[in-house]
This record gives sequence, structure tokens and C-alpha cells, in this order.
Amino acid sequence: MVKIEVDRTQCQNFGECVLAAPNVFSLNAKDEMEYVPVADDSELDNVEAAVDVCPMQAIALR
Ligand code: SF4
Repeated sequence: MVKIEVDRTQCQNFGECVLAAPNVFSLNAKDEMEYVPVADDSELDNVEAAVDVCPMQAIALR
């Protein structure tokens, strides 16, 4: 399993992570980022891409 943690104090809801890993990250009706904290291993590449593209470096793998 892939364990994901987002630093909410850093996240600015840009949504770059949503584009990189749409099964894990999403924007809700208020345009706030939501995410699945534990994802399947098949999402690892996408989540790593999200880590790379996040402009705030707010995403970490645990
Ligand atoms: S890319 Fe980073 S700053 Fe943007 S919504 Fe995702 S976690 Fe937040």
C-alpha cells in the first residue's frame, strides 16, 4: 500500500496532484483538495508524479 500525507499548512489547492493521480487526489465542490491517505500499490507511480509536480512540496509518502 502507498501511504500519503499532505501538509495542509502548505497545500494551496492548486490541483496539480489531481492531474497526476486522479484516483488519489480530487478537488471537492469548494475547490479544496481531498485525498485518499492509503492507496493501492498500483498508484505509486502516479503518487510519485504528484509529489514531483506539487508546487508547494506538500505531499509526502510515509
Ligand atoms: S499539488 Fe500540492 S498544493 Fe496543489 S492541491 Fe495538490 S497537494 Fe495541494
